[in-house]
Amino acid sequence: MKAKILIVGGGAMGTSIALSTAKRCDPLTEPVILIEKGTLGSGSSGRTGAVIHQGYPDRVLAGMARDALKVYAGMNTLVGRSVGYKRTGVLVVAGSDPQAIADLKADVAMQSELGINVKVVNAAEMRALCPGISVADDAKGSYEPDGGYVEPRRTIKTIAALARSYGASTRTGVHNPTVLVENGRAVGVSTSEGEFRAPNVVLAVGPWTPLILKNLGVEMPLRIVRIEETFCEMPDPPALEDMDEIIDDDIETRFQPDPLDLMPAAHPVILDRPNGLHLRCEPKEKRTRIGRLGFDGLEELERPESLDEDVTDEFRNWATPRVLDRMPVYKDMAPRGNQAAWITLTPDQRPIVGPVKEIPGLWIVTGFSGNDFQLAPSIGEGLAQMILGQPVSAIDPEFFSPSRFATV
Ligand SMILES: Cc1cc2nc3c(=O)[nH]c(=O)nc-3n(C[C@H](O)[C@H](O)[C@H](O)COP(=O)(O)OP(=O)(O)OC[C@H]3O[C@@H](n4cnc5c(N)ncnc54)[C@H](O)[C@@H]3O)c2cc1C
Repeated sequence: MKAKILIVGGGAMGTSIALSTAKRCDPLTEPVILIEKGTLGSGSSGRTGAVIHQGYPDRVLAGMARDALKVYAGMNTLVGRSVGYKRTGVLVVAGSDPQAIADLKADVAMQSELGINVKVVNAAEMRALCPGISVADDAKGSYEPDGGYVEPRRTIKTIAALARSYGASTRTGVHNPTVLVENGRAVGVSTSEGEFRAPNVVLAVGPWTPLILKNLGVEMPLRIVRIEETFCEMPDPPALEDMDEIIDDDIETRFQPDPLDLMPAAHPVILDRPNGLHLRCEPKEKRTRIGRLGFDGLEELERPESLDEDVTDEFRNWATPRVLDRMPVYKDMAPRGNQAAWITLTPDQRPIVGPVKEIPGLWIVTGFSGNDFQLAPSIGEGLAQMILGQPVSAIDPEFFSPSRFATV
């Protein structure tokens, strides 16, 4: 098979790149093909909390998160299908430490300059926004009302469907791709389903990237670590008025709201910096996801397949006192399981997006360092612009350049 652009990997990044490139290519003469070894979203993207939060301390990333949020929030209108965007708000708790508060205020000032709707909040405001929270009287935080989360698998499937509607083809269950290099250039991939020839090959394979690059003799300073998250019963959300059916008398029409829209969260997403954890409600499963904010000291994996899926209670035991310190309302909430997943880290915790200079025609998109599901629409747009030689406005190519780690 022949394509103009061949994307390997069907996570948040691969599907977003498929959409952004398919929008710009003629499906008959410039086909876009995505191949995935498992099912769409079977890597990190299927295990993420998919928190949507524009509060990056870095200006470039904050601007991209702002742009991506518009895509998620507008998806319902665009495709008539919800990606489960829930505008719960995101509350960052900075605590009482003067330096932590100064850093938070500087971040909020920078984000406000970018047009992000965010403000510094005091203890009384945090208690009003998040009933049941425990904060000291002199604590400060920030609140971003438009933040929240999406449902990751729904999002990936919707983006893939949209890409197909522009003529892209997505093929799952395609195994063992080997990048074909001729005269020093990437020219396609050979797989269990035969050869796919393309002058542009995009590796969007998340934690599998180092293995594929190693076979090509390309070194990138990527580290794959194993992360655990734990779940517990979600406290009761605030009562909502009955919204089972919305009747518009003017046009004599009845609307059935999307079931996900009827499931309120118990509280905003909480990013608790002093305790190093985050809490994200999952109303559909009636549970709350609890994870870390940092990745220091996590077990390193040589191969993604060596991920140990048996999660002990170690992480839960670490998290429980911290959760109760911040949200005592979780005291009687029953455990609801644990999960393990992969995080792909770079030394500067910035993603790697762009051309592999050693092999023209090969592009990589990886190293999202545990954070950037939400950036996928902006990454897709930026990479499409780069591959197709258009002015690059959606990302800063230098900021993400794979060459920034070169030692010579
Ligand atoms: C527990 C957890 C929580 C997270 N929480 C958040 C959050 O709240 N907000 C946020 O923005 N980000 C979050 N992230 C980060 C986010 O999930 C990732 O940055 C993002 O999903 C990376 O997407 P990706 O497409 O690059 O990789 P992946 O989703 O890993 O996709 C790679 C795909 O490539 C496929 N593949 C691999 N090798 C091959 C091959 N040889 N041939 C064909 N296909 C192949 C895999 O099967 C997989 O589907 C979290 C991550 C984790 C693990």
